[in-house]
Amino acid sequence: MESQISINENNPGDGTQNDLIRFVDVTKIFKSGHVRNYALDKVNLSIKEGESLSIVGESGSGKSTLGLVAVNLLRINSGKILFQGKDISKLRGASLRSFRRNTQMVFQDPYSSLNPYNTIYQSVIAPVNANRQYYETLTGEKADSRSQLRDRVAEMLDLVGLTPGQNFLDLYPKKLSGGQRQRVALARSLILRPRLIVADEPTSMLDVSISAQVLNLLTKLKKDFKFSVMYISHELGTSKYISDKMAVMNLGRVVEYGSSDEITENPMHPYTDILIKSMLEVGGFRTEEPLAKIDFGQYNGGIVGCTFAHSCPFVTDQCLKERPQLERKENEHWVACFHPLGR
Ligand code: ADP
Ligand code: MG
Repeated sequence: MESQISINENNPGDGTQNDLIRFVDVTKIFKSGHVRNYALDKVNLSIKEGESLSIVGESGSGKSTLGLVAVNLLRINSGKILFQGKDISKLRGASLRSFRRNTQMVFQDPYSSLNPYNTIYQSVIAPVNANRQYYETLTGEKADSRSQLRDRVAEMLDLVGLTPGQNFLDLYPKKLSGGQRQRVALARSLILRPRLIVADEPTSMLDVSISAQVLNLLTKLKKDFKFSVMYISHELGTSKYISDKMAVMNLGRVVEYGSSDEITENPMHPYTDILIKSMLEVGGFRTEEPLAKIDFGQYNGGIVGCTFAHSCPFVTDQCLKERPQLERKENEHWVACFHPLGR
């Protein structure tokens, strides 16, 4: 039996059938000796079909871990991840293969994500070779003519801005710049028309102007192909530009969720407020000191109260003793705080 979408009152998103992916109380613990690090601590979130959600937060807040569990590259300790309503931990055989095709990850480093011994054609066509039947159903054409497949890959390269695509087919990655390699990575991730792209800081290793081009491209492709995006970044400007919704993470928890405009213009969590100010000042997190200081002794068994309590100007006893749950404050604006700003 396949599990149904459970509509959870505490889960940001609209809780309707058009959820593509839904995280329910997702917890991921990294253990080292006696130390238990809650990289994800009961995360509840969802992304709708065609929607883009940015995950923002300081380094170490659990953003990459969330991306990896979303595509099932990492197992969670507890909770559930539903993709198109099905628990991904229970997928086997054909349904697992379908999930893999439908969720693609674009990594930070365009230098290491392409095999240096494969031509661009070989890299982009690899997912098709591994899923021939599926590709034939998807496109309605046979995948046995090499010249036709080369044309299809060239068309895809055109779409990602490597033009003319035909000229790139037989090149090796070393001939390409970082921005061009990231375009190839996008072409490869899109060749099987996935429903979800998880992009973990995809442009952080590129120059600013190249980075802007790649983000423009991602936005354009999202419109053309209508996939959903989980965009992971510590950079507010690009996150706001690229996403409809934003989730703010602090030490493994989602502390605020809402439309990108709401979160950036009208933050309610004191952590988000400080985070945004620091992001605007330095254009990203360059500060050495974490914004949320915690007592690691207490952290070991999971934080009891609010993750930001020890650094928050509005802290009360309750914040130290009780975990604030994500609650809907306005239409689509959720915050986990006993003393939200501006209300
Ligand atoms: P972010 O992407 O926001 O910087 P991460 O998801 O990479 O955060 O990390 C969240 C926490 O989990 C950090 O404390 C990090 O040290 C820890 N962590 C991440 N990956 C691993 C791993 N493979 N093994 C042990 N600890 C990890
Ligand atoms: Mg990361």
